Amino acid sequence: MNIQIKMAIIAIAIIIPLSSIAVYGTNSNQQFTNTDNSKLQVISSFNPLYEFSRIVGQENIDSFLLVPIGVEPHDWEPTVKDVQKMQNADLIIINGIGFENWVDDLEETGYSGMIVDTSEGILIKTHKEHNHDEGDPHIWLNPVYAKIQVQNIAIAFSNSDPANDQYYQSNAAKYIKELDLLDSKIQTELSNCKNDFIAFHDAFSYFADEYNLNQHTIISSNDPHGEATAKTLENIISTAKKLNINVIFAEENVDTRTSEIIANEIDGKVLVLSPLEVVSDGTYISRMNENLENLKEALC
Ligand SMILES: [Zn+2]
Repeated sequence: MNIQIKMAIIAIAIIIPLSSIAVYGTNSNQQFTNTDNSKLQVISSFNPLYEFSRIVGQENIDSFLLVPIGVEPHDWEPTVKDVQKMQNADLIIINGIGFENWVDDLEETGYSGMIVDTSEGILIKTHKEHNHDEGDPHIWLNPVYAKIQVQNIAIAFSNSDPANDQYYQSNAAKYIKELDLLDSKIQTELSNCKNDFIAFHDAFSYFADEYNLNQHTIISSNDPHGEATAKTLENIISTAKKLNINVIFAEENVDTRTSEIIANEIDGKVLVLSPLEVVSDGTYISRMNENLENLKEALC
């Protein structure tokens, strides 16, 4: 074969796939434009962050929730479709501290947007259980830390869309004031009450530290699907009796039987203390207020 023909064939072989990619690329760009290209495409990993993002970004962002309704985010893994969605995002908002175990693999999939770690600037507790070397991820349940997460989201939006900097900052500031009110309300209303409570899984360490409470847990790992053994049940029943505890907390979306067994044993009752991990009705603030009411019933 003549060298020039050979070169021409190679050139065609290279150019054809490239140009078909270019056409495909243009088409998908147009689709993007049709859905309003001016808005930041924001994916939030789980529900509290999804709410915070919408509050800060409002109509200036297109906001998507990653972990679907009814699914516990601790052990969720993205599907191929989820990864495709993520690749088209400008920002992916995560809790951090190992809560999103899929995040390390994301860069390998060709994601070129930003990952916003909302735990930045928050003092992290290392987990009591040493099989979790990442630390305790449940920062959102302390409103003081939630404020930092909101601020981190606002900073990320401002950096990606500087034209609307003022807008994001003022939306965040307004919401942070509401979180301040929530914080002082919890502080005041729990101040003259008992300190020891029994949660289902250990989601409330930061909350307990903030409000001078002592968290005991039925499931002593940060996995709500962990097993309560006969030994842990025995321990928690004797703790409850010793500390004169008569409310055992359960979580929504988790089998309440374990909590009920303990409650029966101590002649107490079961109330819900929500870690806000699974989507349900209400807002962050309304659900934190429900938690407060149930804590008051248990402690005050
Ligand atoms: Zn949790």
